[in-house]
Amino acid sequence: MHAEMPTTCPLCAAPTPDKSGRTHTDGADLYTQYGCSACGVQFWWPLKNPGAEWYSKHERYGVRNADPVWNATYNHVKTLSFLREHKGAVLDVGCGIGNFLGAAKERGWQCTGIDFDPDAITAARQATGINDFEATDVVTYAKVHPEKRFDLVTFFDVLEHVDNHNEFIASIKSTLVPGGYIAMSMPYRKHALWLMKGDLPPVHLTCWDRSSLKRFLEARGFDVVYMRRSSEGVWPIVMKLRFKYGTRLSFGAVSAVRRTVSPGGVSPGARPLAVRAVHSLAKLKDALIFGLPALIIWLAMIPTPRRYVDLFAIARMRA
Ligand SMILES: [Zn+2]
Repeated sequence: MHAEMPTTCPLCAAPTPDKSGRTHTDGADLYTQYGCSACGVQFWWPLKNPGAEWYSKHERYGVRNADPVWNATYNHVKTLSFLREHKGAVLDVGCGIGNFLGAAKERGWQCTGIDFDPDAITAARQATGINDFEATDVVTYAKVHPEKRFDLVTFFDVLEHVDNHNEFIASIKSTLVPGGYIAMSMPYRKHALWLMKGDLPPVHLTCWDRSSLKRFLEARGFDVVYMRRSSEGVWPIVMKLRFKYGTRLSFGAVSAVRRTVSPGGVSPGARPLAVRAVHSLAKLKDALIFGLPALIIWLAMIPTPRRYVDLFAIARMRA
């Protein structure tokens, strides 16, 4: 696929964005990265979300519902504690299986969630006991419910997937009360690519840092009230080294013990003591082999922005 080069920035409409020098090939599709000197956003071209069907088949997103992570993240908890004085109605856009809304409900927020994945919505409804979920996107939601207003609209790890930024933000604004809040997270674009291999098109279409996000929000009627980058921890680096180099050092102990303990196979969930013990030993082995290299890598990244993988912000709509 060859796309005409963009003549204006798709976000701010300034003329002739520049190529960043990066390209990415996904199957037969070639993507070129551009940077806009006017608004500071970097975007991949063609800038096109591949759609709900593609996501349901994508290996990472397809299995998300089968093996979900239920816990609220640091950003989720921070949002709820930062805005505890403004508690009211919250809309979570791209709510997934409802891990943010579950935490919001516990703290007394009145919760609504939307996600374009109907399987995620079914899982979210069961897990949280919240009834107000719809399988839709925010542009459609705002049109179908023109009367609905929220004190807070959240979109965690959504903005980098979006290809209609101005329409997206306009729809969110139309669902907010005057002076309402938004909270969002996304990959921080200066991260080391090996820390976040999935931060590429067609999954992630735009790349953000603090100043481009601040400018984007301010130009659309918001004031940023909180912003934070988070760095990768040491243990995820241990895990990355393990997945890259670990198979060569694996002794197959876990599967060997499994075969010995129950030759007919073990039902999922039932983990005999011996299997658990070997799992713990395997974890200890990872820590011993990869802990020190991971720590050295982590320490070496401290003076650089390459260790930051996540950007998080809370902003308030000007009344
Ligand atoms: Zn621009």
